[in-house]
Order: sequence, then structure tokens, then C-alpha cells
Amino acid sequence: MSRIAYVNGLYQNLSDAAVNVEDRGYQFADGVYEVCEIVGGKMVDFPRHMARLERSLRELRIATPMALTSLKVIMQEVVRRNRISYGIVYLQVTRGVAHRDHGFPSPDVKPSVVVTAKSLNFAKNQAAAERGVKVITTAENRWPRVDIKSVGLLPNVLARQEARDKGAYEAWYVDDKGFVTEGASCNAWIITKDGRVITKSAERGILSGITRAVLVEVLASLQLKLEERNFTPKEAADAAEAFVSSASQIVMPVISIDGNPIGNGKPGPTALRLRQEFHKFADIA
Ligand code: PLP
Repeated sequence: MSRIAYVNGLYQNLSDAAVNVEDRGYQFADGVYEVCEIVGGKMVDFPRHMARLERSLRELRIATPMALTSLKVIMQEVVRRNRISYGIVYLQVTRGVAHRDHGFPSPDVKPSVVVTAKSLNFAKNQAAAERGVKVITTAENRWPRVDIKSVGLLPNVLARQEARDKGAYEAWYVDDKGFVTEGASCNAWIITKDGRVITKSAERGILSGITRAVLVEVLASLQLKLEERNFTPKEAADAAEAFVSSASQIVMPVISIDGNPIGNGKPGPTALRLRQEFHKFADIA
């Protein structure tokens, strides 16, 4: 089956779908994106993803391209046309097409909208979660506005590749004060030996993950203690459990950091439980 993408008003075969070479997303990474998980053909936590999209757009002074109800219809249509039952849908909005000049186009141009979707292999993801994944640490190399979900991901690309080169799944950023911020494409969590769940505060220095926000609710309902604070790689290595969260992986247990096993070197029971409980709390529509 050929894959279908939506590009600025048209549903096209992915092999034909293209954006203008002067799209500012292409030339300046002048755009933002969202990724929603698809479960049973439906989008997970769409309202929260759209709220974050609108915030990212506002922070960059890019116009909202259309009503969110219309964006929803398009995203659902891309999911439907690609016959995705389990997977992800990707939405990208850029400032639009204009002759190359760093300043914003004047007058304004229409933002560009691209939507793609792909199936993920549920059994493969579940098997990875049951094995757990390894992370490395790397120095924070990003601009301070990581709260904006910008398509400017080159630092994240380099961090992820460094992890792969070292035989790991993900890189955890460490800031100049020695604290873990987040992963190249996920939020980072640890669970102490006395059962406290620790993740960095979303006030600054990380992307405020939607999965993270739902997990905060899951933790409360399970009466698990949450501490939103900084932690070091050493505290992670000494923790009972660790995991990462994101829309495409939900909860993925972490079993080692820089080669040091975490806990008994196996996925922890709490991380696996959170993974299991997550969709009971997520909005699926
Ligand atoms: N942090 C970064 C840098 C990310 O790229 C992502 C997701 O792509 C996340 C955190 C997790 O965010 P969410 O749970 O909304 O997918």
C-alpha cells in the first residue's frame, strides 16, 4: 500500500508529496511539529497536543494555519487513508514560503502544513519494553528554548546518533550544572529505592511532554510520590528504576546509564505498570 501525506491542501502519495524549496521550514527550520500516538486508529491526547502546538506557534509568532477542528479532520483522514491502527501521526507547521531572508516575510505568508502517518509494530515495541533500553549521557547542546517543539532538531539528531554509535538507544542531556534534563526525543525519569518518582520540572530546560503530563495523573491515581526536581546521572545510576516517556514509546524502561546497570539491570515493575496503565488515563478520540 502506498503511503499518503497531506501537503498544503492535497492528499498525495508520499513519493510525490513535496514542499517548495523556499519553505522556511526547509531553509531555516522555521516551524514546529507535533506527534500523536494512534491507538485503535484514534489519536491519543489530541487536545493537549493541539494546546502545545498553539503555544509553540505563538512563541514563534507563526499564525495558526486553520481551526483546530479542521486540523483534526485532516490528521484523522491521513490516519484513515494510511490504514493505521497503531502508530503515529506527524503534523508540521512552518512559517511558509518566501524568498530567502532571515527576517519574517512581510507581508505575512500562509503557514505550510504537512501531515504524515506511519504504523508502528506493537509487538516489537512491547518486546523492547520488556527487555529495557540503554541510555548514555551527553552534554546539553541545544538552545535554551527547548520548551518550543521546533523542527530545528540537529542537536537532538547528533545526540541520538552518539547514543547509537555507543550501542545505546537514547542520549540523556546533562546541563552545565551536572543535571539530567531530558532525552534527545523523550522525557527522563528515575525511581528511587524508596519509591519516589523523579523527573525534571517542566518549568524550563525541557519540552513539557504530553506523555509526561498524563503520567503525572497516573502517578497520583496510583498514589506514587512524584518529585519534579533535578537529578544527576549518579543519582540515576543509583536508582531502583529509570524510564523515558514520549508519545511514540509511552513508557520505555531504561536498564543502564553510561554502561552502569540501573537497579538489577532489568525493566522495573513500576515503569512497566505505568506503561500498562497509561492508556486508561489518556484521552483517545
Ligand atoms: N522531549 C523531547 C526533546 C522530545 O522530542 C519529546 C517528544 O518528541 C518529548 C520530550 C516527549 O514529549 P511527548 O510526550 O509530548 O511526546
